[in-house]
Amino acid sequence: MKGNSLTEYATARIKTLRAADLYRSVRSHLRENAHTIVQDGRTLMSFACNDYLGLSQHPTVVAASIAAIQRSGVGARASRLISGNHGEYAALELALAELKGTEDAIVFGSGYLANIGIVPALVGARDLVCFDEHAHSSLLAGAALSRAEQLSFGHNDAQSLSALLERERDKYRHCLVLTEGVFSMDGDLAPLGSLAAICETFDAWLLVDDAHALGVVGDGRGSAFTTSPPVAVPLQMGTLSKAAGAYGGYVCSTQIVCDFLRNRARSFIYSTGLPPGTVAAATAALALIRSNPDLTRLPLARAQQFTTALDLPPAQSAIVPLVVGSPARALAASRQLSERGIFVPAIRPPTVPRGTARLRFAFSALHTEADVARLATHVKDIMA
Ligand SMILES: *Cc1c(COP(=O)(O)O)cnc(C)c1O
Repeated sequence: MKGNSLTEYATARIKTLRAADLYRSVRSHLRENAHTIVQDGRTLMSFACNDYLGLSQHPTVVAASIAAIQRSGVGARASRLISGNHGEYAALELALAELKGTEDAIVFGSGYLANIGIVPALVGARDLVCFDEHAHSSLLAGAALSRAEQLSFGHNDAQSLSALLERERDKYRHCLVLTEGVFSMDGDLAPLGSLAAICETFDAWLLVDDAHALGVVGDGRGSAFTTSPPVAVPLQMGTLSKAAGAYGGYVCSTQIVCDFLRNRARSFIYSTGLPPGTVAAATAALALIRSNPDLTRLPLARAQQFTTALDLPPAQSAIVPLVVGSPARALAASRQLSERGIFVPAIRPPTVPRGTARLRFAFSALHTEADVARLATHVKDIMA
């Protein structure tokens, strides 16, 4: 019978994934508040949410979103260049540029869409993309779409980037360097000062993905602002779906570069605008981030309380990895914590390199010191 090979193929691949403890499924996670989830009828304290400041359920953010829906309706109705650039967008792009100290900003449908739009718009077949070996999948997808030559450098290793550019830069027209500001699976900060200086030397363009940095480091302004003076990063992208609690991606840059991206980034041109309620929520969230630097310091403070309790290297962001090795061990540890009322996901390959399956803890401003102390006790227990 024709068409059977699809079912056979999917069945065989799923079987292989299950055998390697790499099978994943989507589960329903009801939310009571920003730092608990309800799973199979049990309420668990979650250390698995990117809503670092609890803004996804903040009354001001929710009210702004509802008001925008009532003003403008639910959907954007078209791509932004046609008729989907509704009245909520201008304030958000202004707030982003202001937060980052740039001339301009562009909002995309998501962080993933931003990366797969920006990278191919900037580089092509005669160009080079250098990326940190731990860079997010969406950055790599952008690089693959660009058809530029792709070479990786050692994780957070400025020396490795410098050697790579020394050897390769002259062979190409343009060069784009990709890194995360706060690494999503490791929680560490990129050495942006060194990377930016190297890019300057070799005429390479630095794109920093601040998905996990916005709202959490540099008084909430992101990884470029963790030093004084801030590091000059020509392309600061990120997402509004994590600490901002809403949805959407962005890039902040000069007016001319943004103008060019609005004309050339295909995920901007050929995808529908974000819903008005989502855009308004993000704008309200950014205003809260801007006016509450003390709130933005809490996730890091909680993460550091945890790393101190467990004798781990001090947390640099809201994310703390505990590498356990095999996928089976990571799953077992996650299950044991779940039995104790704590939700921490097991992160397995291909999200992280083979042999580095881990528990990944994400801390929020809503976790209390007592919550973190309880977590630390349970983690020590199950690791003993
Ligand atoms: C989450 C994430 C993205 C994708 O952002 P979305 O808005 O969720 O699509 C991109 N890069 C990094 C580093 C991320 O962690």
